[in-house]
Amino acid sequence: MAGARSYTLETEVKYVKGVGEKVAQLLMKLNLYTLGDLLYHLPRRYEDRTQFRKIRHARPGEAATFAGKLVTVDNIKVRTNMTLTKAFIDDGSGALELVWYNQPYMKDVLLRARDRMIVVYGVVKESGWGLQIETPEWEDIGDGAELNELLHVNRIVPIYPLTEGLGQKRMRQIMYNAIQHAHLVPDILPRTLCERLRLMPIQQAIQQVHFPDRMELIEPARQRLVFEEFFLMQLGIGLQRQQLMQERGIAMHIDADRLMTRLHQLAPFELTNAQKRVIQEIWADMARPHPMNRLLQGDVGSGKTIVAAAAIMAAVDNQYQAAIMAPTEILAEQHYLVLHRLFQPLGITVELLVGRLTPRQRAQARERIASGRGMVAIGTHALIQEGVEFARLGLAIIDEQHRFGVLQRAALRDKGVMPHVLVMTATPIPRTLTLTLYGELDVSILDEMPPGRKPVKTHWKLPEERLKVYAGVRQLIEQGRQAYVICPLIDESDKLQVRAAEEMAEHLRKDVFPDLRVGLLHGRMKPAEKEAVMEAFRAGELDILVSTTVIEVGVDVPNAAVIVIEDADRFGLAQLHQLRGRVGRSEHQSYCVLIGNPKNEEGQRRLEILTRTNNGFLIAEEDLRLRGPGEIYGTRQSGMPSFRVADLVKDMRLLEIARQEAFRLLEQDPELRRPEHQPLREAVARAHHRFAIATVS
Ligand code: ADP
Ligand code: MG
Repeated sequence: MAGARSYTLETEVKYVKGVGEKVAQLLMKLNLYTLGDLLYHLPRRYEDRTQFRKIRHARPGEAATFAGKLVTVDNIKVRTNMTLTKAFIDDGSGALELVWYNQPYMKDVLLRARDRMIVVYGVVKESGWGLQIETPEWEDIGDGAELNELLHVNRIVPIYPLTEGLGQKRMRQIMYNAIQHAHLVPDILPRTLCERLRLMPIQQAIQQVHFPDRMELIEPARQRLVFEEFFLMQLGIGLQRQQLMQERGIAMHIDADRLMTRLHQLAPFELTNAQKRVIQEIWADMARPHPMNRLLQGDVGSGKTIVAAAAIMAAVDNQYQAAIMAPTEILAEQHYLVLHRLFQPLGITVELLVGRLTPRQRAQARERIASGRGMVAIGTHALIQEGVEFARLGLAIIDEQHRFGVLQRAALRDKGVMPHVLVMTATPIPRTLTLTLYGELDVSILDEMPPGRKPVKTHWKLPEERLKVYAGVRQLIEQGRQAYVICPLIDESDKLQVRAAEEMAEHLRKDVFPDLRVGLLHGRMKPAEKEAVMEAFRAGELDILVSTTVIEVGVDVPNAAVIVIEDADRFGLAQLHQLRGRVGRSEHQSYCVLIGNPKNEEGQRRLEILTRTNNGFLIAEEDLRLRGPGEIYGTRQSGMPSFRVADLVKDMRLLEIARQEAFRLLEQDPELRRPEHQPLREAVARAHHRFAIATVS
């Protein structure tokens, strides 16, 4: 050990006592590079080794820790291709069998511990003639050395995530050595805050989260670390928000009464109160001399499009252009149809930029936008961002479910002035994710469905019930409705997916609905073909649309009243909810039929949840719980931060508190310039890097 070395949190792990070059390589696999990283590498669970359960008192089904002498070890060949390693421990009260499958080398490993004390953890099962644990976690503690007394027994013991080649005892020893440097971690939170929230001092928290004195101290210690992580993130978001709010924008003149009257005349329906409220919020933003940064959330079918139209109307009324970016071409086409029809009486020209345009048509559309004759531009994200020049862009609307990054925002900047930005989410987002992903935006929520909507009835059917399902579909079509059939997801390749869709359409045309009009839509079709099929379905010239998930987001054909989803358990919850949102868009009773025979519990759970609720926010929360944020959003590209200790599902309440506290602090000291906030300011700057929140745009 380098005795005179002075440690900092940046010190490389190899200099930590007990590590060295070789182990440092292993730690790197766990993303542990510095002493600071080690301190935040939390145990995945703990064992109370101050008292062990007596084998005689073990209960089948329960996970417990035992300590006993390892008495016998043996390999048993069961079949030609199966070896069992069996061992017994004896603690004086009884014997417990330990079993490993097809790991014959375990015998040698265990033999080294024979006649010694070992600690064993796992779920107890009843075997033929006694109690047993399959592939237990275990540690040899048998030499009675002082180190064991100190670290591995007679205390609450941390169990760490490991990597191949690094054993639990070694890891624990390293962590113990690292913790001796816990005093290096500065306490950066304001003292008054810690007192008010009764937060544990940071050094104590680090100490206790690794080597707790009592079980009850673990959670408060962990929460102290989680709070700090959330708090720094929210301070960063708060600072970013302040910056956005100071940016120079376009103060539009909004005559709300006049605009509302006009909208009233144009819209084919009465606005809901929620729509009216949200429109007023948006107009108020647009009247300020700073750019709007607003997120519009609303469940599928809640009527976000007309809200977007209201914002566009106000911009155009001020002689500013507006742009809508949609996630798919199909959706861009649909927005075009709706807005073109809506705005025609006002003489507002709407430009559509999609792949099916000829180069000449596209050049002309771009020219009209650049000259300012085309007031509204609609396209996919890519098309609009690819250097389309606007004469006077005043409003950008993003209809999508992913984060709209700072860089893209900067790309919209027009002659030093930011246009107003409205982000509409296609899927409800759980509140925790809203605060993380869109924390710098203002939020409007459409919490009311248009009148007369009947909740979609959702049924889960087994594949063998398909004929009955088709009979139901036929009945609805005879009543004048239309249907979607969504093909199974095939991940191997796009090509297979397309073939499956074609086969499904063929089968339905020939064998099931020979007398009905069946159309097909998939991602490999040319844009013009896609549009032609959508148009036919919209016009009622098709009864059934067989489709892949290309219709997942946003597609609006109100006469469609049933959607059949094949292999439904292979889709994610949020995705199923989106697909279901294609129906139930009119006063007709609509149905969603999930066909699937899920083998695993999680698949069953998903289908069950869907049959139980239509509430997109509940479903989104559940999705987050089942899959975790990384799965749903993909970490990096979406701007989803990766947390060291926090868990967005478990720690939801702490996130709310951290946000309140962070914003409260910024009210008192907007730029964290007070001397006592200096360490905090620096920590926020460092954390930015980790949370991928860019403050500079
Ligand atoms: P979202 O984008 O929120 O999923 P849309 O804007 O596509 O929803 O609207 C869904 C359907 O409801 C559309 O057919 C739309 O014309 C209709 N709609 C929207 N608002 C109302 C309303 N206030 N009253 C009746 N129908 C409405
Ligand atoms: Mg929509």
